[in-house]
Amino acid sequence: MRDVTADAPGRVNLIGEHTDYHQGFVLPTVIPQRTRVRMSARDDRRVRATSRETGNTVVEFVIGAEAVTDTWVDYVQGVTHALRSVTTALPGFDVAIESDVPLGSGLSSSAALAVSLLRALRDLYSLSYDDVELARIAQRVETEFVGAPIGIMDQMACSLARDGEALFLDTRSLSYQRVVLPPGAELVVINSGVRHQHAGGEYATRRRESFEAAARLDVEWLRDVSVTQLHLLDALPDPLDRRARHIVTENQRVHDTVAAFAAADLERVGTLFDASHRSMRDDYETSTPEIDSLVNLGRNDPDVFGARLTGGGFGGSVVMLVRADMGNEIATRILAGYHARSNQRGSVLIPER
Ligand code: ADP
Ligand code: MG
Repeated sequence: MRDVTADAPGRVNLIGEHTDYHQGFVLPTVIPQRTRVRMSARDDRRVRATSRETGNTVVEFVIGAEAVTDTWVDYVQGVTHALRSVTTALPGFDVAIESDVPLGSGLSSSAALAVSLLRALRDLYSLSYDDVELARIAQRVETEFVGAPIGIMDQMACSLARDGEALFLDTRSLSYQRVVLPPGAELVVINSGVRHQHAGGEYATRRRESFEAAARLDVEWLRDVSVTQLHLLDALPDPLDRRARHIVTENQRVHDTVAAFAAADLERVGTLFDASHRSMRDDYETSTPEIDSLVNLGRNDPDVFGARLTGGGFGGSVVMLVRADMGNEIATRILAGYHARSNQRGSVLIPER
């Protein structure tokens, strides 16, 4: 039987948080950690899957009879379920999965898994979707099967972003530009070690509140409210005004960050990171004490330009823009400070060590 391998990276969003489900702008890049799959064809419609990260137990299902289990295998079932739009005769397969992307840490292990499975299946069964269509299918894995009402940033980033570049993505048109990160700075990403739950309550609540704010402003998507119209939010009750303000100002910050990167103005990027974090902490309320502690350690470090929560929030990871060639040193001292203050372990994902 034919055997294929495929992989996909995790992602870290530099700025543009909770904007993607309002058709807004995001700026993710890849992390060095990847999910890898080895897949072989079967001549029936059965799927047998194992994941090193969940103890290598074999789980099985039949394509066409996928049923939600509320376990990790839903991400695999979600893939074959979403592929019904591409082919009604997808054969089965055996797949072994392993990943260095930490699960549930805001670095998109879920998209890395779906994208690597869809890449392997495209190769194994000569399917014809391109990388953007692949991202759309991977998004449906989560929105239609797993039941996580996410936007498309994660899947686009995992499918299209490349090392050393960020993807400036318009989530309405899916058009994108590659933004080269200027010399003089590098990224540090620290996982707080506190896990979040996407599908669970808070993310869905924020999303619901943001759409309620949009409806009251008479727009379908907050992408269509600009920073020149912020005074309109005064008519909204708390917390809807703050939820909308985060998304409206965050879209502007993505544009400003792209311009600042193009001008190699690292101080300015740092200021925008800091403003984005304050907006998530105070207006969107997706931060946690552990994340704030990491961000504050970054902010008080003379070699850090800026620091912010990355990803959906409620735990997860922090991204910092720091002086070039100092990432390791800075990450080590911030991790030590974090452990002393919060008694959490945390771990450094970038620079890779
Ligand atoms: P994130 O995408 O930020 O890591 P999510 O909550 O969206 O967090 O997705 C994490 C879930 O995805 C895990 O709880 C697990 O069910 C599934 N998952 C991701 N990667 C793997 C993997 N390599 N093996 C098994 N399950 C995985
Ligand atoms: Mg995810």
